[in-house]
Amino acid sequence: MTDNDTRDLIIIGGGPAGYTAALYAARANLHPLVIEGVGWGGQLMITSDVENYPGYVEGILGPEMMRDFRTQAERFGAEFLTEDVTSVDFSERPFRISVGDDEYRARAVIVSTGASARQLGIDSERELQGKGVSYCAVCDAFFFRDKEVVVVGGGDSAMEEAIFLTKFATKVTVVHRRDDFRASPIMLDRARANEKIEFVTNAVVEEVLGEEGRVTGVRIRDLNTGETTDLPAGGLFVAVGHDPNTKLFLEQLEHDEPGYLITQQGSTATNIPGVFAAGDVVDHVYRQAVTAAGTGAMAALDAERFLAAEEGHEAAALAAPRIEAEEAEAPLAVTSSGRAGSARASV
Ligand SMILES: Cc1cc2nc3c(=O)[nH]c(=O)nc-3n(C[C@H](O)[C@H](O)[C@H](O)COP(=O)(O)OP(=O)(O)OC[C@H]3O[C@@H](n4cnc5c(N)ncnc54)[C@H](O)[C@@H]3O)c2cc1C
Repeated sequence: MTDNDTRDLIIIGGGPAGYTAALYAARANLHPLVIEGVGWGGQLMITSDVENYPGYVEGILGPEMMRDFRTQAERFGAEFLTEDVTSVDFSERPFRISVGDDEYRARAVIVSTGASARQLGIDSERELQGKGVSYCAVCDAFFFRDKEVVVVGGGDSAMEEAIFLTKFATKVTVVHRRDDFRASPIMLDRARANEKIEFVTNAVVEEVLGEEGRVTGVRIRDLNTGETTDLPAGGLFVAVGHDPNTKLFLEQLEHDEPGYLITQQGSTATNIPGVFAAGDVVDHVYRQAVTAAGTGAMAALDAERFLAAEEGHEAAALAAPRIEAEEAEAPLAVTSSGRAGSARASV
């Protein structure tokens, strides 16, 4: 901290991106405060098994993994506030961040407020989340091997998810409320050409059916006739879009049309020097825990370098640019682990 009131770094958001940024920043002595939101842990709190995060050989439950992330950052001194930020003022430094009537100030800020998968908004969907209801085929398709599944949606994401699911499922039924699609013709053609995919149009999912806490099917309603039909299915993939959690920042940070924040290429810097962004809040392509964590690490390194440059010792920052020639000539030092490494500090 630079004085009693102004922090070096505040991280807004406590998902994989925010906690990884906190870990790196804490280890770089930036004493970060993570304002993690009442939804601390982020999107993985509503899933069960995560099997694609490297290092967890047997897989891990999403909430347990997020507790691990948080505890690891805490171990190095990161502090947490489990409240939602209500407004930000990035117009001058130190930046001001409000949580209700309380104001926090920081020399640098990382925004990692993630995104929210849109839901259908029916009770049975909520009850069966992580028990057959999913919002991410890349994450969960593997659990639906040899099962029939339903995908809801009519855009490119829905087509992509349906096609991906055919690698595992025996049958994929795409349910869409209209008979024309937002999906691009090429994606639609690909889905239509796939013999495992069937389409039910002009229909909505009215209820997710379950037995013993697992999805067993969906009840769909034909919008023309009002008739309902039960489709047996082991899983329901809701692919009706994501919304970035960026309402607070839209007037101050550059963003694209759907509201995802824009960062400079190869960096996490936003249009405001000292404000960085990481994770799903900037990413509408990959949307994975590991990519969010990766950009969280980048944001902490970028913030550290920014603060070090301001203090006139950029070369000492962990993310200082490597000078290739010097690196090549530098004698190898033996690190505390006993392994040979370059003389540069390791993160
Ligand atoms: C059901 C489901 C299953 C998934 N399964 C997998 C999987 O198996 N493997 C995988 O790699 N990925 C999976 N994903 C994707 C993965 O969860 C996301 O890519 C990842 O969580 C993004 O991390 P993030 O830190 O950017 O954002 P998020 O996880 O969205 O976290 C955002 C954080 O910001 C906080 N926040 C939001 N607004 C505010 C505010 N105003 N003030 C303070 N804090 C705020 C929230 O409380 C939350 O803590 C899954 C996603 C879903 C929805």
